[in-house]
Amino acid sequence: MQSQEEEVKLTTIQRIRLEILGITPTEKRRHPGWSGELQFYAFKCPIHGIVEDYPHGYRQVLRCRKCQNEQNVEF
Ligand SMILES: [Zn+2]
Repeated sequence: MQSQEEEVKLTTIQRIRLEILGITPTEKRRHPGWSGELQFYAFKCPIHGIVEDYPHGYRQVLRCRKCQNEQNVEF
């Protein structure tokens, strides 16, 4: 079966920001049922490497969807 994992594609500038800051904004996306677009971020999961998520809840946490490892968003 085909893997469902998506490779996170980053520009050079995004990669540099990720190296320095540990997080970088990627792109705004709209999902079905959402009222607007959400800013996505790429960050490093210690286990899975570069993963992508959008901020959840009032604490604005990003989660690695593979292990639920949380990282607070710092802007
Ligand atoms: Zn992970």
